Amino acid sequence: MAKSVLSDIRFHNEEAAFAYVEANLWPNGPVCPHCEATGAKIGKLKGKTTRAGLYKCYACRKPFTVRIGTIFEDSHLPLRLWLQAIHLLCASKKGISTRQLQRMLGCGMKTAWHLGHRIRFAMAPDGSSGPLGGAGMTVEADETYLTNSPKTKRGSGRKHPHTRVVSLVERGGNIRSMTLDHKSVGGHLYKHVHRDSRLVTDKAPHYLHPPVASHESVDHSKFEWARGDVHVNTLEGFFSIFKRGLIGIYQHVDKKHLDRYLAEFDFRQNTRAKLGINDVQREEIAIKGFVGKRLTYQTTGSAEV
Ligand SMILES: [Zn+2]
Repeated sequence: MAKSVLSDIRFHNEEAAFAYVEANLWPNGPVCPHCEATGAKIGKLKGKTTRAGLYKCYACRKPFTVRIGTIFEDSHLPLRLWLQAIHLLCASKKGISTRQLQRMLGCGMKTAWHLGHRIRFAMAPDGSSGPLGGAGMTVEADETYLTNSPKTKRGSGRKHPHTRVVSLVERGGNIRSMTLDHKSVGGHLYKHVHRDSRLVTDKAPHYLHPPVASHESVDHSKFEWARGDVHVNTLEGFFSIFKRGLIGIYQHVDKKHLDRYLAEFDFRQNTRAKLGINDVQREEIAIKGFVGKRLTYQTTGSAEV
């Protein structure tokens, strides 16, 4: 029988958990986060009472661990539990609920909630990824609507518009999803599309005259779903997985957190098995993206894990 991935020592032993994260974030050995010293200037602190993963920099005299400067930094939770949570989120195609994380990790509900949201936050691409598409490339844009959960409705007699999710996918490349209201669709959407791209959409009015090299559309109102390679089927498959996740796993998603769930589903789609990426490789990609995410996260108001 093949060895269970869950039996890996990094999920059970704190030193091994640190060694795993260090191997991913410091491929060439420890780097002091305070002064960037490396090599012989860094010493590992060992001893019965020493915390796992603790180093000392002999250049600036400061101690540090690999957690500094990452989403792990302000967390009191053992790193091996973080790795378990990251594994569960990376390996579950439709996501994993706070309740289930809580049960599987044996932690509190609040801890599970923050853990899940920090990981989702860190799965989002950083600002440096640039627009999708480019000369000779096709980008599909499409949207779907989510009905608000009755629990999130407030007041009475007010209209509660459905939430609009817009996704873009570069054919053969990455997907990027966002929640937009009808006013911001045009302006905001096209920040994510390279001007030299060919854009394929349906006939929705906000796709009229997009600022791109060429634009073709299918007319769903005339039951036209595809005309040669003019279609938005790539995104329809993605929306189907996303909605099954929201309905089956997440159930009551507050609109203000929706972008993080989208980042989670985008991340798994962009690292999917069809691209030859397995669950463990997906985790490594996630962990490499955790660097530099710390400060931004705090502005959203939580450091409780
Ligand atoms: Zn230093």
